[in-house]
Amino acid sequence: MKTPLQDLHIHTHLSSCSEDAGQTVAAAVDFAAANGIRTIGITNHVWDREVPGASPWYAPQDFAHISQVYAEIPRDCKGVRVKIGAETEFAGGVVALTRAHRDALDYVLVPHSHIHMVGLVLPPECATDAQVAEYLVQSFLALVQKDFATSIAHPFCPIGRAPEEVRSILGCIADETFARCFQAAAAHNTAIEINGSCLEDETRWAAQERMFAIARDCGAVFTLGSDAHARTELNAIFLAQKMAETLGIGEERLLQL
Ligand SMILES: [Zn+2]
Ligand SMILES: [Zn+2]
Repeated sequence: MKTPLQDLHIHTHLSSCSEDAGQTVAAAVDFAAANGIRTIGITNHVWDREVPGASPWYAPQDFAHISQVYAEIPRDCKGVRVKIGAETEFAGGVVALTRAHRDALDYVLVPHSHIHMVGLVLPPECATDAQVAEYLVQSFLALVQKDFATSIAHPFCPIGRAPEEVRSILGCIADETFARCFQAAAAHNTAIEINGSCLEDETRWAAQERMFAIARDCGAVFTLGSDAHARTELNAIFLAQKMAETLGIGEERLLQL
């Protein structure tokens, strides 16, 4: 397998869902340097204080909180390019980050599939797999129209669902519908993330391979991310790289920050 060229989705201990105090920028740099990864990006969860509607979980993770990361960038990055971004939220048709703060970052990942946050992201009335699939399609298209995200984090990967449910939900989305979504993303210069943490079993892999192949054929630009929240999860980037290789997505199709 070739060297992963980038890992643009790394959380540190500043994200509330990280339980590894040793998950620091320095740890990510060390892993990247040891594995020949040229560019890494730190993307902690953020909900801006200026944007109403934060859940109790999101509220403490504001822009000032994630900005603490700058003080943690090691003096010697061992030849690894370190970019500072964020993973914000898209809920109720609103992006949880101001454009000013987005522009202060190197880039921003925006998810539309944190459907484990029922009530905040997924409307409670979306109960069946078909309804969840329709929510994912509509939220993806609405997010792309915002012209806000650098890349869409874990697209169409329903977070918190078992692999069989993921297969069932994605099975409700026709090839033509995926194509309409990815053509819209390409037209709006929004990249598509290949997220290694969403590829850890064969069932979810197969469901997403069909989808990413359509994205490739629609001219999408991609980013690769591990979505690591702990040092032991950084190697998920190899799964993202493997998907890219499987589909013939080379360096020329990866977003270069
Ligand atoms: Zn996420
Ligand atoms: Zn993430």
